[in-house]
Formats: sequence, C-alpha cells, structure tokens
Amino acid sequence: DTPKTTFNRVLLKISGEALMGDQGFGLHPPTVERIAREVKSVHDMGVEICMVIGGGNIFRGLQGSAQGMERTTADYMGMLATVMNALAMQSALEGIGVFCRVISAIRMDEVAEPYIRRRAVRHLEKKRVCIFAAGTGNPYFTTDTAATLRASEMACEAIFKGTKVDGIYDKDPVQHADAKRYDRVSYDDVLAKRLKVMDASAIALARDNNLPIIVFSLDEPGGFRSILDGSGTYTTVHA
Ligand code: UDP
Repeated sequence: DTPKTTFNRVLLKISGEALMGDQGFGLHPPTVERIAREVKSVHDMGVEICMVIGGGNIFRGLQGSAQGMERTTADYMGMLATVMNALAMQSALEGIGVFCRVISAIRMDEVAEPYIRRRAVRHLEKKRVCIFAAGTGNPYFTTDTAATLRASEMACEAIFKGTKVDGIYDKDPVQHADAKRYDRVSYDDVLAKRLKVMDASAIALARDNNLPIIVFSLDEPGGFRSILDGSGTYTTVHA
C-alpha cells in the first residue's frame, strides 16, 4: 500500500561527497547503491524524479585553481567529475530496475544524452529518472545552481537537498547539543544569516522562481521517502 504524496515532480540534489562513504575520496559503490534504493522508494510512489549530483568527491574547480590551475579548465574538470558520479548512479538505479537517463550539459553523445529540455520532460512523463550531469555547462557555477536551474526548467515542485542532518539549524548540531532546527526559513534569512544550505546564487535563483528547498537527511534510512509520505523532519526554505 503506497502512501499518498502531494508531490508529482521533484529534484533531488546531493553532493558528490554523499557518494564516497567513509573513504574520503571518490566513489563507494555500496553507498551509491544505498542512495539508489532511497530514490527507488520514492519513485515507487509514482513521483517523477530529477537528480543533480555534485562532483566534490572527485574534483572541485576552486581547489584546482588554488593550486595554480587555470580556473575555467579546473571548473570543466569539476563538471566532468559530476558526469562520472551520474554514470555511477545510473548504473546503480538500473541495477534495481529503475529506468534512468544521464543528461549532460556538455555534449558527449557516446556517454550521455545532450540536454534538450522537451526531451527531458518526456523522459520524466515516462517515469524515467533524469540525472542532470555536467552542472550548468558553464564555469564559475556550482551544481547547486545547476539543480535550481534544472528544477525550474523541469517545473519541479521543490528541490530536495539531501544532507547529513535533517534540516537547517541555528548552529552546527554535531557540535552543539542545544542547536535548534528551523521548520521553515525564508530565502532572505538564509542569505542574510549566511546559513549553509546552498550557495548564494542558487538561493537567489530559487527565490526568484519561488522554488521551495527542502533540506533533509540523506543519512537517515528512508529519509527521502519520509519527507514525501509526511512522516519525516526537515526544513523548508520558502519566500
Ligand atoms: N562546476 C562548474 N559549473 C557548474 C557546476 C559545477 O564549473 O555549473 C564545477 C565546479 O568547479 C565545481 C565542480 O564542478 O567545483 C563540482 O561541483 P560542486 O562543487 O557543486 O559539487 P558538490 O560540492 O555538490 O559535490
């Protein structure tokens, strides 16, 4: 018996680091599979799912440029890292019977589909999970911005940002036992208080498009589904 959800189409954003398990670098296949099962449990509810996965477990442009690399080249390397993560997730999802497409913002037709908005929408309508890879395709952006952009283009009802904790706190809940979780917080407060949710350009884009951001714990087993069936705890960033 599948519980009802009010969401029809959502975008799940996870960082690349979510895929590395306890390794400190790269991809940990059992962790990728665990997240794939979390995605499947929501897909099974009939929700259309977009995904954006970061690349920080492999390469970040800013790190490369801090070590003397030319910034835009380093950013393209970061974008390529997100393609690897997307392919790993595609493999894990297909392994458990979820049809899925990797759609790249940078053309590499042998590896992934190019981004064509109407085609991506059609995949979603056919209940295929769409993993948007290579960020926005532009240097100087992040995958948080890519997530907000694609969620807006795909008319998602919300961005689900999977993190290590079940929402946004007034201080680090790992270090402070008395940290308080916000139920709701405005885009403007996130920007003014510099709360660590997504980078400022992603928050501003979400605000301008009135796209709610739901911050929840991806470490909690069943965490993603618990938000959709109404039983979980989370923070909503809203107008
Ligand atoms: N990146 C980029 N343009 C984009 C998205 C990503 O240049 O539209 C590059 C950037 O160098 C970034 C890297 O890809 O550092 C990996 O993405 P991100 O840092 O967002 O990954 P996450 O922190 O979510 O794992």
